[in-house]
Amino acid sequence: MIRQYELVDRVRKYNPHTDEALLNRAYVYAMKAHGDQTRASGDPYFSHPLEVAGILTEFRLDDASIVAALLHDTIEDTDTTRDEVDRLFGKPIGALVDGLTKLKKLDLVSKQAAQAENLRKLLLAISEDVRVLMVKLADRLHNMRTLKYVPAEKRARIAEETLDIYAPLAGRMGMQEMRDELEDLSFRALFPDAHKTISDRLVHLKARNTDIIAKIEKDLARKLFENGIQADIQGREKKPYSVWSKMERKAVAFEQLSDIFAFRVIVGSVEECYRALGIVHTQWPVVPGRFKDYISTPKQNDYRSLHTTVIGPGHQRVELQIRTEEMDQLAEYGIAAHPLYKDGATEEERTALAKDSRAYEWLRRTIEVVSEGDSPEEFLEHTKLQLFQDQVFCFTPKGRLIAMPRGATPIDFAYEVHTNVGNSCVGCKINGRTAPLVSELKNGDEVEIIRAEGQTQPPAAWESLVRTGKARAAIRRATRAAVRAQYAGLGRQIVERAFQRAGKEYADELLKKSLPRLARQSVEEVMSEVGRGEMLANDVVRAVYPEVKADRPAGKKARKLPGAQGVKHGATLREVGAGEIHSANGSALPIVGLRSDLAVRFAPNGGAVPGDRIVGILTPGEGVTVYPIQSPELATYEDQPERWIDVRWDMEAAEVLRFPARIRVTCVNEPGSLALITGVIAQHDGNIDGIAMAALSTDFHEITLDLGVHDLKHLNDIIRELKRSNVISSVERVNG
Ligand code: MN
Repeated sequence: MIRQYELVDRVRKYNPHTDEALLNRAYVYAMKAHGDQTRASGDPYFSHPLEVAGILTEFRLDDASIVAALLHDTIEDTDTTRDEVDRLFGKPIGALVDGLTKLKKLDLVSKQAAQAENLRKLLLAISEDVRVLMVKLADRLHNMRTLKYVPAEKRARIAEETLDIYAPLAGRMGMQEMRDELEDLSFRALFPDAHKTISDRLVHLKARNTDIIAKIEKDLARKLFENGIQADIQGREKKPYSVWSKMERKAVAFEQLSDIFAFRVIVGSVEECYRALGIVHTQWPVVPGRFKDYISTPKQNDYRSLHTTVIGPGHQRVELQIRTEEMDQLAEYGIAAHPLYKDGATEEERTALAKDSRAYEWLRRTIEVVSEGDSPEEFLEHTKLQLFQDQVFCFTPKGRLIAMPRGATPIDFAYEVHTNVGNSCVGCKINGRTAPLVSELKNGDEVEIIRAEGQTQPPAAWESLVRTGKARAAIRRATRAAVRAQYAGLGRQIVERAFQRAGKEYADELLKKSLPRLARQSVEEVMSEVGRGEMLANDVVRAVYPEVKADRPAGKKARKLPGAQGVKHGATLREVGAGEIHSANGSALPIVGLRSDLAVRFAPNGGAVPGDRIVGILTPGEGVTVYPIQSPELATYEDQPERWIDVRWDMEAAEVLRFPARIRVTCVNEPGSLALITGVIAQHDGNIDGIAMAALSTDFHEITLDLGVHDLKHLNDIIRELKRSNVISSVERVNG
């Protein structure tokens, strides 16, 4: 295990300004926090975060990253809280540890398959700070190095995940060395035989070719030196995994890959890079199509170098990478080599700089692509991410991840968490701020649902706001239950009153005993059927007290208004009303398309109001009748197209007038019902031109009203208001 002073020494070597006290505090704190926890290997658990910190010193990372590495498992695995880390080590370090904690939770849930999904989550979490990802990569590297202690059945999954996600990420961040080691460890864990065969072969070839390699190196160095360039030339070793994957991908034999010699040429300046290239190209034949200038056009991850392949001194193909020391550092350590992760920089500078860094840009863009569902890049293809582009991932305040379809709202989120949470949801906070429930959620949003105790009924209108089937089904279920309960409540009122009227006592217990006589299963069922008008309250009374006389046929005792003959529909109304225009000042009809010499009337059974789509029907010798397009009467004229006249409303001219419309109201037979209905209409400035009442049963009345209204909106306002009353069970417009 790395000793406390060793760790500090390592950091001080590359960062003379390191905050030693901070490192020491973190070391002691993490060691105490993990206490006597152990790893699968039997080592003290603390050895793991310590090794992770050690790996990061090789990348020369800043103090905050080293401290975050020491603390990276404390929040998840010990009693430590985020607040405590904030308090002891400051908020910036707290944020890093928090990001790592979120990522760690993903490791635990990522059973199989969902790997690409995890990558997305990973990107989300790191999008705030690249250092979180660097610590995570070091964490994974140490876990891969100690993979042999993990139970065999888990090994393959971890190695696959490393190969699919972490190694390419390391590559994309320019951390080639990290990538190579992750690939090698994964390859060995997944295909031990192939790994051994290829490694042995490479060792064998290297031994056999030692002379050739030495000769090429010497020739190269001499040529460059003769031209005044001091170069450090390194033979590049092939990695078993890259050989293997090339063999797989390009279906080529091992021998075809092994006769290429690769060297890295490190020179002092950019100018020398190009001069060295010129010397090489004039000295040896160039293999066409292999030259790449990544100095003038760096790769996305900031990689810079010249690449070329020549036919070398012994007629072998020789691959060359020509670059400066600085470029080489960047190629090996990637974003970690960036000066902003070194000493000196303040948190603000770091944040500002981080956003300029090209590698950081790449991450940002990847996150955007992933979030926006744009055309998949090579990287996304590789990780099968496109499968998840139609999804959005959000966190609960406790860090649980909720996956939903794109466009999901906090209401969906609430239902994903739990049906009860959805039903009792009344508001939400997104990333700590109060937000509307209709907000569209974005990747990485932390969503807190505000609930009202005792609320179990979501507004029915939510059904059209949600995206998930789960939420929609739950809202429908709750709405249906509520409607049932409403009818049952109404039914109970009616039943209890019917018992009163009959002079009989009512109790649920009594009704329960009589259920078989009504052929129903429960009191609730009886009540809601009465409420819906499907069963008569008197039948319920007689089921309990068979001696009570029948109160039928329906309508016999009903109050009657003139013209109402106890019929259910189409009660005859006063002749005045429908069909008449209520123009206060006798002005012309606000209808475009009529000839002025024709008499005009409105559909006799229902009328028409501005806002309706209308047609005129011409009756020779009489005039034109204007019908709303939904009127069933129009079917009569279908085979006489010559009688149809194209008319429409002149809405502006119509404003001050009134037009006829008929509605039918079904309400509970109760004193005051009629007064309530007429009251609502009057309050909303509707005129009542005619009224007819019919008894549907002893419990319900049907009232047909001819109204004078300004337009369709006015009519709908009245209908909506009537529907709110609890003595009214339905309101509909009549189209004659
Ligand atoms: Mn760890």
